[in-house]
Amino acid sequence: MVTRALDIVLLGPPGAGKGTQAKRTAAAFELLHLSTGDLLRDEVSRGSSLGQEAQGFMNRGELVPDALVGKMLVNKLHAQVAARGCVFDGYPRNTDQAVLLDGLLAELNRRVDIVLYLAVSDEEIVARISGRRSCGSCGAVYNLSHIPPKRDGICDACGGTLAIREDDREEVVRQRLSVYRERTAPLLGVYRGRGILREVSGVGAEDKVFSRLRTAMEARAS
Ligand code: AMP
Repeated sequence: MVTRALDIVLLGPPGAGKGTQAKRTAAAFELLHLSTGDLLRDEVSRGSSLGQEAQGFMNRGELVPDALVGKMLVNKLHAQVAARGCVFDGYPRNTDQAVLLDGLLAELNRRVDIVLYLAVSDEEIVARISGRRSCGSCGAVYNLSHIPPKRDGICDACGGTLAIREDDREEVVRQRLSVYRERTAPLLGVYRGRGILREVSGVGAEDKVFSRLRTAMEARAS
C-alpha cells in the first residue's frame, strides 16, 4: 500500500511498450499517467497553437522544443496537484528536462522515486513498430503481431479506423531511435548514479513485462 506520493519515470526507446505499461502501472498504483506524447497528440488533433508548433517536429521524429513541452507539463501538473503521484511516460527526454522535472516535483515536496527502464533491442523495436496501428478516434494502440484488433483495421474500443501513426513510418522510427540514443539514453547514467534506476526486460507478453515491472517496484518498497 502506497502511503505517500510516488513518482515514477518510465524510460525506454520508442516502441518499448512504455505507453501500455505506463497505463497499467498508473492504474495498479493509483497514480496519474502523464504521457507528453499523448498530450502533444491531443494538442495536434485539436489544432491548438501549441499543436501546430509541435506537429512538424513530431512528424520528423525530432524532439519538440523543451519550452513547449515544459509549459504543457507544468499546466498539467498544476491542474493535478492532488494526485498521489505520477507515472511520467515520455518525459524527461533529455538532461535539461530531467532538471526541470526535479524542480517541479521539489515545489510539490515530491521527487523522482524510481525510474523503470524498459529494455528492448533495436531489431525488436523495428519489428514491433512496423506492426503498430493506432486508432484515429480514441488513440488506442494495437500491434498486428501481438495485440491484434478483433476486426482488421477497426478499433475494438470505439469502432474507429486504425492507421499507421505518421511518426511510426520506418525512416521516422530510425530518426526517433537516433534521437533516443543521443539525447535520452544518457539519462540512464544520471538515474543509475542516484541509485533509483531499475532495468526490466521489455521483451515478451504484456502481462509478463508488467509483472516484472511490478516486482521491480515492490523490491524498491521493501
Ligand atoms: P511518444 O509518444 O512519447 O513516442 O512521443 C511522440 C513524439 O512527441 C516524440 O517523437 C517527440 O516528437 C514528441 N515528444 C513527446 N514527449 C516529448 C518530450 N518530453 N520532449 C520533446 N518531445 C517530445
